Order: sequence, then structure tokens, then C-alpha cells
Amino acid sequence: MSVFVWIEQFKGEPVSLSWEVLGKARELADARGTQAAAIVLGQEVENIAQQAISYGADTVYLAGDATLTDFRGDPYAAVIKALVEEHQPSIMLWGGTSRGRELAAAVGADMEVGVAADCLDLQLDDESNLVATRPIYAGNILTDVVFRGKPQIATVRSRVFPMPEPDPARTGEVVAVSAVLSEDDIPVKVVGLEKATEGEMSVADANIIVSGGRGVKGPEGFEPIRELATVLGAAVGASRAAVDAGWIPYPHQVGQTGKTVQPDLYVACGISGAIQHLAGMRTAKVIVAINKDPEAPIFQVADFGIVEDLFKTVPALTEALKERLG
Ligand SMILES: Cc1cc2nc3c(=O)[nH]c(=O)nc-3n(C[C@H](O)[C@H](O)[C@H](O)COP(=O)(O)OP(=O)(O)OC[C@H]3O[C@@H](n4cnc5c(N)ncnc54)[C@H](O)[C@@H]3O)c2cc1C
Repeated sequence: MSVFVWIEQFKGEPVSLSWEVLGKARELADARGTQAAAIVLGQEVENIAQQAISYGADTVYLAGDATLTDFRGDPYAAVIKALVEEHQPSIMLWGGTSRGRELAAAVGADMEVGVAADCLDLQLDDESNLVATRPIYAGNILTDVVFRGKPQIATVRSRVFPMPEPDPARTGEVVAVSAVLSEDDIPVKVVGLEKATEGEMSVADANIIVSGGRGVKGPEGFEPIRELATVLGAAVGASRAAVDAGWIPYPHQVGQTGKTVQPDLYVACGISGAIQHLAGMRTAKVIVAINKDPEAPIFQVADFGIVEDLFKTVPALTEALKERLG
């Protein structure tokens, strides 16, 4: 009957989106008069279990095992599937990261139920069933999804639900569970981890993003974009045109085939605003567009528009903000 949430961790650090999702799970569990449970997998991740309780979990299922140290689909899905079969949760929520989406799909397929991906809102109907709001047609239409089977599984976009306040005084139960697969049963081996963009902030986590498109004209055109991003404490984003041209690596790409982002501020520089780009950023809280073409579609979604050459505007903004922000 309860609401389950998978708490994602990377190298022992919880991913903050998991707490946003757990906050929503707590709300849904209260509305249903049921429990919220967190699933924590890894090795030496007991502290994350305690944090999950402070963020709203009543119960934490904790599997600490060497086979679970680094994320791998097979051993993670096997533990979660065993938990689902034993405890029969009604609702399962996942942060919509690439790992969350992979696991949700694997568990959904194993349980022969559907998955509502990339949700922007979650509600309950009169019978306490989940109603998930998700974008379709590249974000142009929002649709409400209901579920036939159980568990009702949804992945959630980052920053759509507020970060809950942790309460260190909250109490809950930590239940130790075992890994299901042995190392010999797991075909995938992790031989090393390499960061795609060393030292740079990920667009997925950023409150502010400064993005460049074809209008930056080359890899060196990202320099003023990076300088503005540094002054704002922002991540650097890009359109697919800039990525396809090889001016900046793919992890920076925002849009339908890149990352979906929802920052407080999105500054689009030399980006026309093609529908596939808008699909990834149109729900940013404030959008600023800098484009020398007054007819560029990006201005239709922008809260503030500057019709000007970005190579004049962006350095001027950087200087002004440097002074203003010290
Ligand atoms: C299946 C599919 C998936 C796709 N997925 C994505 C995706 O995930 N993300 C994505 O971004 N695109 C995606 N695209 C591509 C998308 O359709 C556009 O081609 C792309 O977004 C265009 O990038 P752009 O705005 O940088 O380039 P353009 O459309 O060429 O726009 C460049 C803009 O820069 C302006 N400009 C030029 N010089 C300056 C200057 N000096 N100062 C100011 N402004 C200037 C121009 O006026 C123009 O508006 C996808 C396409 C398909 C078919």
C-alpha cells in the first residue's frame, strides 16, 4: 500500500533530486494514510538511510553490498524487484535521472506495468490512485496519465517539487536487505569512472544556465558564455547545433535529445528557439534571450529579450554583473 522512492547516490553522496521526490512521496503517503519508504542501495551508505528518514521516510530498505557499490542496472533492479514483490507498494517514484529512468523502466517491465516518465506533477484521484502529469509533443501539451496496474510507477523531472526541510529529530526504521545477485551473475563490470566534463557544473543540477547556440559561431565563441556563467555561478548549456558542430561536448546539450532542465534562470545566447530546444528548457522560471534576430522564436518564450549581437551584450553583461555581484 505504501509509496516507495529509490534514493540515488553517487560515490556515497545522495542525489538531491531524490529528496525532492521523497518530499512528494511523503505528501502522497500522508494523503493516502499510508507509509513512505525509501530504498537505499550501495556500500557504506548507512548515513544516507538516516538522511532519508530525516527527509520523510518511515522505513528505509537498506542494501549494503559490494555488488551495489557502483550503479549497475541488473543488481539494482533485482533488489528493488524483490522488495516490490514482498511489500507490494502502490506507488513507486524515481528521480528522472538517466539511472532513475533506467531502473524504473527495468522494474516496470519486470512487473509488467507501465511507467509515466518525466512527470511535472503528481496527484491522487478520489480513489487514491496516482495521476501523473507529463509533457508530450516536445512539451507543447501536458497530459494526465492514470495507471492500470500496480505499482503505479513514475519518474520525476528535477526541481518540479520543492526540496523538503530535513528534520533530524524524525524517527523511522532501517531494514537491512540482502543483495539478490552475486558478482558472477552480473554481466556488467565497472572498470572505472570518468567525468565527461571535468570541473564543470552539470546543467541538470544548476539553478542558473547560460547557453550558447549556433550564434556563438565556433568553440571560441563559448568563452564569453563561460565567463558570464562563471560570474553567475551558472552551468554552461548548448543547443544541439553547437554540440553537433563539435564546439562543446554533448553533456551540455539542452533539449529533446539532450537534458531537460528547469533552472531559476536560463540565458539563451544565439539560440533561435527551435521546438526541440524549447522542449528542454521552456519550464525555466525566467528566460532571457539574446539574439540579433527580433523574429527568433526564442523571444516568444522569453521573459526578457535583448535584440543585439551576443558578442557585444554578453561581455557587457559579464562586466556589469561582476561589478554588481562583486
Ligand atoms: C529529432 C530532433 C531532435 C533535436 N533535439 C534537439 C535538442 O535536444 N536540442 C536542441 O537545441 N536542438 C535539437 N534539435 C535541433 C533543432 O531543431 C535546431 O536545429 C537547433 O536547436 C538549432 O540550434 P540553434 O538555435 O543554436 O541554431 P540556429 O537555429 O541556427 O539559430 C542560431 C541563432 O543565433 C542567432 N545569432 C547568430 N549570430 C548571432 C549573434 N552574433 N548574436 C546574437 N544572435 C545571433 C540567429 O539569429 C539565430 O536565431 C533536434 C532536432 C531534431 C530533428
